[in-house]
Amino acid sequence: MKISYLSLSERRCTIQFYGCNFKCKACFAQNKTNRYTEVTPVQLITEIKQFDPGEVMLAGGEPTLYRKELIEFIKMYDRKTILTTNGSLLDGAFISEMENTCLNEIHIDLKAFSTKLHEWYTGCSNQMVFDAIALLNMSDLDFEVMTVFIPGIIDTDEIEKIAEFIAGIGNKIRYKIIRYVPIGNISRRPTEADINGAVTIAKEYLSNVTSSLEERTHPLKSVRVRI
Ligand code: SF4
Repeated sequence: MKISYLSLSERRCTIQFYGCNFKCKACFAQNKTNRYTEVTPVQLITEIKQFDPGEVMLAGGEPTLYRKELIEFIKMYDRKTILTTNGSLLDGAFISEMENTCLNEIHIDLKAFSTKLHEWYTGCSNQMVFDAIALLNMSDLDFEVMTVFIPGIIDTDEIEKIAEFIAGIGNKIRYKIIRYVPIGNISRRPTEADINGAVTIAKEYLSNVTSSLEERTHPLKSVRVRI
């Protein structure tokens, strides 16, 4: 599997996988240098263990591009592990395989509800993501759905449709609204009032809604390490 770099903070080692099947207009992980290292799961675990992190986050890029190696990794690695994914490659067999591992949590992005908007923003359909959320809800895996709030694009009307859709699967599913960091210059940074307004609307449908205003998803201080 291809790794761009490791991002190390006090509590976490984030593994930045290389490559993605989406082409999001505001991608935070676009790799313009095409630099990566090809490693086996065993080599990756050896690299990580020298830093002794409290937890590992599998991020990207899109970690699920490397399905076979990813399963091998989470079967072998015995510390707290979180997977972040765009969800488009999570079919039933993949989810079943992950159930029999030490994986602690999955963060799945639902970037937009409206099909045309999702296709415009990512270049791909959202149908597989819808299906993956339903499959995860039937599994033993702990998961949370996330959406980046982008003013004027993924705005409160989209958040409301997403919340209604998730509630149709299960109204106790955890949902988190993330504040857009202006990348790609497609919109402004949302205000706190924008985010709180979106949370209020989502709470009309779901009992467990949070936002990145309350809890940082990414550590404040981290260093990049190439392997
Ligand atoms: S899914 Fe994530 S890594 Fe892939 S293009 Fe979108 S923002 Fe970038």
